[in-house]
Amino acid sequence: MRRSDLFLPASRERRGEWVGATRLLVRAGLIREFGSGLWGLTPAGQRVKTKIEARVHDAMRSVGAQAASLPNLQYSDRWRESGRWGAFEGEMFTFRNREDRAMCLAPSHEEGVVHLLDGLVRSYDDLPVVLYQIDSKFRDDHARAGLLRCKEFTMKDAYSAHVDADSLREAYRTMRAAYLRIFDDLGLTIAVCGADNSVMGGDRSEEFVAPVDEGSCRLTHCSADGCRWGVTDEAAEFDEYAASDDCPDCGGRLATDGGVEVGHVFELGTRYTDAIGLTVDDRDGGTTTVEMGSYGIGVTRLLQTIVMQGAWERDGGSDAESLDWPVTDWGSVAPYRAAVVPIGDDDAVRETATGIHDAIGADCLLFDDDQSVGERFAESDLLGVPATVVVGNHYRETGEVEIERKDGETRSVTPESVPAAVERFATGD
Ligand SMILES: [Zn+2]
Repeated sequence: MRRSDLFLPASRERRGEWVGATRLLVRAGLIREFGSGLWGLTPAGQRVKTKIEARVHDAMRSVGAQAASLPNLQYSDRWRESGRWGAFEGEMFTFRNREDRAMCLAPSHEEGVVHLLDGLVRSYDDLPVVLYQIDSKFRDDHARAGLLRCKEFTMKDAYSAHVDADSLREAYRTMRAAYLRIFDDLGLTIAVCGADNSVMGGDRSEEFVAPVDEGSCRLTHCSADGCRWGVTDEAAEFDEYAASDDCPDCGGRLATDGGVEVGHVFELGTRYTDAIGLTVDDRDGGTTTVEMGSYGIGVTRLLQTIVMQGAWERDGGSDAESLDWPVTDWGSVAPYRAAVVPIGDDDAVRETATGIHDAIGADCLLFDDDQSVGERFAESDLLGVPATVVVGNHYRETGEVEIERKDGETRSVTPESVPAAVERFATGD
């Protein structure tokens, strides 16, 4: 992408009420507020979201989940059958349409997936089925910290249907493992916490909580490498554990931080299928009520959480002056993998810079407009681009260009080897 073509309303605005990650995302021009609890993404913000979604789509395919699409606008009948009409913690947007029928904007899709399957799965042979979508959800929640808590947000929600509890437990374990691989690839530290099923109902659930400086809950978690043990202040046993106690799982040291819930998996059992009436023929000639699981990841919340954890771990928390996206063996969700900064406008520099940009492709930002050199470096840093390619004096003297990593480390390579070097160098190789 050429900088001269990019719509990037980087405001560098230091005033305003935003703090921490929200302030950074606004300042870097990735998000814009549309009123309390409503946010839009600019093209650069949308690029980050699309990369997160690509990783989630891959994980869902790897566990055999099939993409579906359920309507967000729904009539009240299924919600009345499940008992959640008006009971969704007072957070459901409800209204009457022109025919005076009660409708809602779906805050979740357990009722929707039961409706989709009802009458279409008839026998144990038709199960298990795992469906998912990545789409908007609507909840009239109290707005908080930018994308962390919104009234409309993007979520990956998956649902599994089973003939018995053993099959459900197996799908739950598979999905839980896939979630941990997603969070590892995105470079997030995550604790897994036993949780209350609350408005979802059902038998068992676990939350995936990212430790951050200031989150939406308090989290006590194990600080040992590879251990995922954690408990949030929403659990009754939270007060039984203190920072610097021994971890009940591995004996490591516990720490207490803020936390953000980025994922939640539920063994719902027959909570919805009983209420709405979803049965299949079983192996013994009788009928049995379908067992269900439900699995969510907050995609837009994840975007902000990655920024929060990155700023907290690497750049001094709310004082951070630039975005800092983790780079793992999988890659990075940074809006651009690389930026090219030409210094001087002689033909050789301009042609080499353009050639490098064209070779890397759409994931590269070429600073080709009338910004000063200082402004170009500042913008690349603010956006958190992991590798900045400098074509200037060093190139004129040696024929090689410099790649600067966000942590300041620099390497000199030939222009032809930049695409491969950017990939390796960004992962610390
Ligand atoms: Zn531990």
